[in-house]
Amino acid sequence: MPRVHLVTTGGTIASRVDPQTGAAVPAVRAEELVAGVPALGRVAEIAVTEICLESSWNLGPDRIAEVARAARAIQADPEVAGVVVTHGTDTLEETAFGLDLLLDGDTPVVLTGAMRDASTAGADGPRNLVSAARVAVAPAARGLGVLVAMNDEIHAARWVMKTHTTALGTFASPGAGPLGAVDGEGVRVFARPARTPQLPLASPEPRVYLVKMASGMDDLLLRALLDARVRGVVIEGSGAGNVCGGWEGAIAALVQAGVPVVLSSRCPGGRVTPTYGAPGGGRRLEGLGVIAAGALSGPKARLALMFALGAGLDAAGLRAYFDRFAG
Ligand code: ASP
Repeated sequence: MPRVHLVTTGGTIASRVDPQTGAAVPAVRAEELVAGVPALGRVAEIAVTEICLESSWNLGPDRIAEVARAARAIQADPEVAGVVVTHGTDTLEETAFGLDLLLDGDTPVVLTGAMRDASTAGADGPRNLVSAARVAVAPAARGLGVLVAMNDEIHAARWVMKTHTTALGTFASPGAGPLGAVDGEGVRVFARPARTPQLPLASPEPRVYLVKMASGMDDLLLRALLDARVRGVVIEGSGAGNVCGGWEGAIAALVQAGVPVVLSSRCPGGRVTPTYGAPGGGRRLEGLGVIAAGALSGPKARLALMFALGAGLDAAGLRAYFDRFAG
């Protein structure tokens, strides 16, 4: 029987409704989570490491680094066929991508969670846990980087995102699609994307902020970040990477102050391209020294910038690193 090492962090998959408040809260410890899904024992022998029992919106990049250190040690164990990480779905895509930046091993690391807590009829946690374990022990999953297995779909960490507040099929990879699926016959992998460019497992720089562009927004937030002397700024622009023209002055001032400004798009799919020349257009932002984030979402570009700055990359190193996401 192959061995799967389960790393737990909390989330809805480990939550129950508190009868006092009627609200779902993380309450199911790792051992109980495993005991509650007997079918797991037919897929693999399970070892467990409980990192925390938290809602995912309260986890941060330091916790991602902690999970990465644990997963790296587990991957080094030749007895372990694969790693499953259970996690809240709200920020699951960020932890998956953060791990993908930091883990270069071939042993599968598969994140999963649940959209319905254990108290709810039709809870999806048990099925997702078993499917994630099946992916984790599948030879076809080796060398793919960090994966997300939810609702019997397999997604790449770099592309996946939570697209619906409550739907079971909330995880999707806009513009790319799933790279595999789990069905009654087994695990199918039908695409093998290039690995995410790696970064050293250093402590992430915390003072990196994300600003989402909206119609007619002035540059107040960017000016405040400049005055606060932050270490990095990520902008989610409109379309192929454009912002309100009135932001150009603040962006230029940030770049001149040595603050890297990384440009993503608020569009779920596609990559930023320096197409337009009107004020705020992507071609003008390129001329101001903004770094393009390729097809990375704003939150994922922010994590890459945090870990890249934490690893000591300078301006040229940052640009060269993000250029590797342009494809
Ligand atoms: N709604 C989330 C979940 O489905 C809760 C969380 O992200 O912790 O897991």
